[in-house]
Amino acid sequence: MIFLEYIVETKDLKKNYKGFMANDGVSIQVPKGSIFGLIGRNGAGKTTLMKLILGFSNKTSGEIIINGKSEEKELWQERGRIGSIIEVPAFYDEMSCYANTMYQAKLHGKGKNEVNEVLKKVDLLKFKHRKVKAFSLGMRQKLGIACALLGNPDLLLLDEPTNGLDPVAISEIRHLLEDLNRQGVSIFISSHILGEMEKIATDYAFMIDGKIVKSLSSKELKESGKDLETYFLELVGGNTNE
Ligand code: ATP
Repeated sequence: MIFLEYIVETKDLKKNYKGFMANDGVSIQVPKGSIFGLIGRNGAGKTTLMKLILGFSNKTSGEIIINGKSEEKELWQERGRIGSIIEVPAFYDEMSCYANTMYQAKLHGKGKNEVNEVLKKVDLLKFKHRKVKAFSLGMRQKLGIACALLGNPDLLLLDEPTNGLDPVAISEIRHLLEDLNRQGVSIFISSHILGEMEKIATDYAFMIDGKIVKSLSSKELKESGKDLETYFLELVGGNTNE
């Protein structure tokens, strides 16, 4: 058996939106078992990269490799092993938490056992009969993660999962992601909350204007003697004064 070091790789990936290069030659390597943090300012191209990996958007050129597979047909099979939340997870507000999860479960050919299992993982079992319209943002994000877990993914791809959450909800999501990671799920995450990212990420890639300007491990970040925010602000030429 060949040991694969990376769960996702991209090589010189480009996405051109009518003359605008949202991804301009992106090469990343997401180590298997990592928590990989994608960092960049608003509009840097992070969501675009995630959509390309997931196949929600077609690349202009370049290569996407998931679990060592890069042929289009094989890629689609591998994408079935990725759970994701891109932007805000969408639910049927008038339906209960359970009914929404069951709806998603059926799309994966799963049933009530799996629904209960994923709701338990995100600690929403006690709210399963509550309508989603009565859910807080944090509960919605947890429900989004529950649905993303339905296919037993090897990789979770999460676009700003803690955006707008209170500190308690943020720490709950952190513990949940750490637990999942310990169980072997690789996590690819974008976030603007750098202090939070620094607590969990094992690897980082920094994106500016559609390009990856730097990739490094958390160990290398530590060795630099800088915290993540200082490192990022220096890269983007921002003000690093407190
Ligand atoms: P944020 O942190 O604000 O979520 P981001 O890094 O995820 O930003 P993207 O959403 O990938 O950034 O957008 C990158 C650039 O591509 C932006 O300038 C955006 O306007 C542009 N863009 C994204 N989607 C489209 C589209 N469908 N058509 C045209 N331009 C687009």
